[in-house]
Amino acid sequence: MRKRFVFIVVLLVLIVCGVVVWSTRSSAPHQSQQSSNPDSSTVPKEKVVMVALPGADPIEARTEDYNEPSSIWVVVNKDLPLSNQQYRPNDLTLLSEFSRTDKGTDERSLRSIVVPDFDSMIADAKTAGFDLIIGSGFRPYSLQAFYYNNYVAVSGEEQANKYSAKPGQSEHQTGLAFDITLRSMQCYLDVCFGDTPAGKWIAANAANYGFIVRYPADKTAITKYQYEPWHLRYAGKPLAAALQQSGLTLDEAYPYLQKARTELIDQGKITAQ
Ligand SMILES: [Zn+2]
Repeated sequence: MRKRFVFIVVLLVLIVCGVVVWSTRSSAPHQSQQSSNPDSSTVPKEKVVMVALPGADPIEARTEDYNEPSSIWVVVNKDLPLSNQQYRPNDLTLLSEFSRTDKGTDERSLRSIVVPDFDSMIADAKTAGFDLIIGSGFRPYSLQAFYYNNYVAVSGEEQANKYSAKPGQSEHQTGLAFDITLRSMQCYLDVCFGDTPAGKWIAANAANYGFIVRYPADKTAITKYQYEPWHLRYAGKPLAAALQQSGLTLDEAYPYLQKARTELIDQGKITAQ
């Protein structure tokens, strides 16, 4: 009786082991088939969107929406006002030592994203012998309205439009643009700044720090602003270098940036508005 019981237990154990071995073997080919499936090794990779300005090395497109005033690639001009008229950056930083002390805090500030490259440029300019400061940096909508209305009152709307932006159309409101000056104020907001050694240094070197001279002498028909060798705009080093290589203004680069934006929308990286 006892022997028979042991025999049955051993038989059951053998049957269970057999079932386990069989199920393991039968699932093995399935596993290997999965790993050799060609579809699993060709997961589509995300395509990098490039911006190729004529005559410039292509640069990788940024993945934020350039229509947002917070983008360092945003284009603001007479035809493209800020998409948010009351935009005010939330990362303004006071450049206390390198700005006009007779100006308000807003105008002595830039966005923090600009500050490291600004500091590098100011330090290298100093080494080259030029003591540069911000004459006017960030301007909120209300301050731009105040300036613009004053200019119109003094010289009429047509003249004022050549050197002053209407509120909501000024790059100064982005916190990415500023008017640079020698601390001595020599040639302050005057085209003669471009002929000073400091102005020439800026024109030749600003792009190395991510800045562009936004309103060049030979592009007034495109920018619709007079030559302003003092007005610098931050665009980041890759785009500033590409703009310098291509000789295009930001306005002329706009269609190329929009093309990249469309591709990013198609890829689902940004959403159209
Ligand atoms: Zn300016």
